[in-house]
Amino acid sequence: MFPTDRGSKVTTIRTFFSGNPIQRHGKLRADSDDLSRAYCHPNTRFLPVWQSRCLVTEQRAVLLGINELSAYTDGPEDAIFLGKLDERFIFALALPDDADPSKTGQAEFVEVRKLIGQVDETDAGLLAYARAMVNWQQSHAYCSICGTRNRAIEGGFVMRCGDETCAQRSFPRLDPAIIVLVVDGALCLLGRQPSWPEGRFSTIAGFVEPGESLEDAVRREVAEETNIAVGDCRYLASQPWPFPSALMIGFHAEANTQSIRLNDAELAEARWISREQIVDREVMLPPSASVAYRLIEAWFNSDSDQPLEALVPAASIWRRR
Ligand SMILES: [Zn+2]
Repeated sequence: MFPTDRGSKVTTIRTFFSGNPIQRHGKLRADSDDLSRAYCHPNTRFLPVWQSRCLVTEQRAVLLGINELSAYTDGPEDAIFLGKLDERFIFALALPDDADPSKTGQAEFVEVRKLIGQVDETDAGLLAYARAMVNWQQSHAYCSICGTRNRAIEGGFVMRCGDETCAQRSFPRLDPAIIVLVVDGALCLLGRQPSWPEGRFSTIAGFVEPGESLEDAVRREVAEETNIAVGDCRYLASQPWPFPSALMIGFHAEANTQSIRLNDAELAEARWISREQIVDREVMLPPSASVAYRLIEAWFNSDSDQPLEALVPAASIWRRR
């Protein structure tokens, strides 16, 4: 039985960057006339992205009208159609790296990663979406088959080779990564990466490789990093992680063995940790905005009189050393 089966305290797990309220209206992408009308509509708003940074003020995303960005766009083919929000069409617009963003006249361009846990949660998903799409387009500027320059079509969701005989089409891609809390009775398995300070711990994570199911990747990553054999595993929650294009897929897994041995250099340390040790703050948990924290919290709360949040104030963000 999984630890979270014992009670009904955990129902839905929300993660930061998820729950983006935008309606994507994917059909509009293929209709260039409708797309042009949406681009020109006076209520349409644009999310500028400059050097992978998004424009924010007072912890909210800044949406600009076309007049404020006219120096950076000549038509709908420059912009990425993200969807509709509050009856307004929303586009992302990449500003050239050598642009002077102060000309936008508002707010500040900030790395989306620095906004984790700080920016309004509703806007976080929107900013992550805009940044991920711009980053994907910029990393697919050329055809991967023949090297000809690509052209953005279909609202920016297709990059098509400019050579008509090749005509290779590329689509937005995600890099799936598993993240897992391994549990053995009243203990959970946490690891510390070599670059982290003493005491900072998190769950096990890694990218899914070709030819693997998510469960295969869970078993391989846990074995590679800790030598623990994993039995049953169960999906709990996911988190868009646009740095640049990951999707974190979160699991709880049952340990079949207990003896830890670090098989690769990904972790400096791994330990079995009890709820009491967490309450006594023997380990520093990941920030509350991470899916890693949510996995630990779900396990902790499944067998605790008081929720984790009430016993241990969560860090909103880990600062890099
Ligand atoms: Zn080509």
